[in-house]
Amino acid sequence: MFAKADLVLLHAPSVYDFRKLPILFGPISDLVPSTPIFEMYPIGFSSLAEHLERNGIRVRIINLALRMLKDKNFDAEKRIARLKPRAFGIDLHWLPHAHGSLEVAALCKKHHPEIPVIFGGYSSSYFHEELIQYPQVDFILRGDSTEEPLRQLLLSLRDKKSLKDIPNLTWKGADGSVRVNPLTHVLTDLNEYLNNYPNLFRSALRYLDVRSLIPIHDWWEYPITAVMTCRGCTHNCAICGGSRYALSNSYARGVSAYRSPEKVAGDILSIAGYTNAPIFVVGDLRQAGDSYASAVLSGLKAARPRNPVVLELFTPAPESYFQEVAEALPNFNFEISPESHDENVRRASGKFYGNEAMENSIRFALDQGCSKFDVFFMIGIPRQTSGSVMETIDYCGHLLKTFGRRLNPFISPLAPFLDPGSIAFENAEEVGYRVFYKTLEDYRRALLAPSWKYTLSYETRWMTREEIVDSTYEAGLRLNRLKREHGLVSGETAEKTEKRILLAQEMIREIDAILCDPEPGRAAKLQALKKTFAQASMATVCDKDEIKWPVLRWRLNFPKIIRALFESRPS
Ligand code: SF4
Repeated sequence: MFAKADLVLLHAPSVYDFRKLPILFGPISDLVPSTPIFEMYPIGFSSLAEHLERNGIRVRIINLALRMLKDKNFDAEKRIARLKPRAFGIDLHWLPHAHGSLEVAALCKKHHPEIPVIFGGYSSSYFHEELIQYPQVDFILRGDSTEEPLRQLLLSLRDKKSLKDIPNLTWKGADGSVRVNPLTHVLTDLNEYLNNYPNLFRSALRYLDVRSLIPIHDWWEYPITAVMTCRGCTHNCAICGGSRYALSNSYARGVSAYRSPEKVAGDILSIAGYTNAPIFVVGDLRQAGDSYASAVLSGLKAARPRNPVVLELFTPAPESYFQEVAEALPNFNFEISPESHDENVRRASGKFYGNEAMENSIRFALDQGCSKFDVFFMIGIPRQTSGSVMETIDYCGHLLKTFGRRLNPFISPLAPFLDPGSIAFENAEEVGYRVFYKTLEDYRRALLAPSWKYTLSYETRWMTREEIVDSTYEAGLRLNRLKREHGLVSGETAEKTEKRILLAQEMIREIDAILCDPEPGRAAKLQALKKTFAQASMATVCDKDEIKWPVLRWRLNFPKIIRALFESRPS
């Protein structure tokens, strides 16, 4: 139908000029696989690409963020100038991309004023009325189900047809006026779509550009993959932009959509054929009911894939669940996010289980052979004070003493932004938040602040911005020492982490002092510290290896991947 690369999907770094600007990004990405520029593109790219390819539209993904991160000489502007697709697609899913994605869009427009620029993702959807006013933005597809609306948009643009019936579309008419089509396309069945790894591998070969498709900086050494089970969530955590409240209020999703248990099991087994690296199953399997979880697990029982499989727990689970998991998966891992040790604080953040129930779950899981159980705590939640954060670290000590080294506690700040659309964002006063930034432009500018203390978009009735930053580093220091004591990290690793935290604390003070200096001179002083900021922003409060699951040798099975490329060619 089309010539090659009809659509180029571009993933921008969070701050476009991150290689030049002196910014202390802080520990904002310590607990995710990305670096602080968030080079990992949304998993939605792969389902968009797969759906369009299946319908004869050729898609190329270019992870500009990763290319810029890996190669200091990589010229993103030159690369964009050389591309000639029929349309550009840019994700603005996570709000920390507010700067980079708009800069990349501006470069697309500068070199190709005639090529449409299409935005998508949660943040694009939330701020669509403001985003469409930027001259570099032509279209926004809203909501979490844009595969089919995007196909319709691309065909209508090609055939010069009316756009008024394309669902979920925000656009500019010929007279420049903004049109907002209803957000009516919301998937309730995920069986047709979702990520398709052979399709990504095929795309890499077609454009002879594997490097632009890699999702994270160390993917070759650690090719972690994800399996999506659902869109939407049945829970209502106060700070979450993906909660039931946020999705129904801002993105028209009334109910969660699930992939069938057979397909989820099939996805896991299919990935296990290509790699023995960890597989992260996104979404608690029990969200759709115990029988759904049982059906997924029984679909895995016969094959028992050897990969480390990571499962999420949104609430504590009974012993029988862990027994079922152990029967299906020889190498299973869990994670849970109680946010605080204090049940009142936890309740204020929208989680209603007690410590006893959570510890029972941990015990059941470990008794059944769970390899690693990660427990995530957070700083910056309602009703939490600095003192409460330190008590959370004491509680981590209790967990480590009780459960030993297979339990791994983490703590990180809610940063840099409170999720737009979340209960806390929409009802800030009531929940106890003071939100500094409201518009997309506010967020875009905030990303250029010299330290994450000033990028941080909120403070709470119980903790100032300064206290959130200070508690983060103090908690990081104390948790690191605890982990060393309990043998979770080596003496050498703990020492390096301690040094990074102390350096980051020093840089926070230094930046505050520089900001009191008069201009000119401020910029030069900040620039002189750029290298040190980079050292103090990467894996600050814990080592990146701590969030990983061990990978066996032969991480990718290339003969199998090549066979899959031929077996699953789109017709
Ligand atoms: S944080 Fe809460 S609301 Fe958000 S996805 Fe997780 S369980 Fe659902």
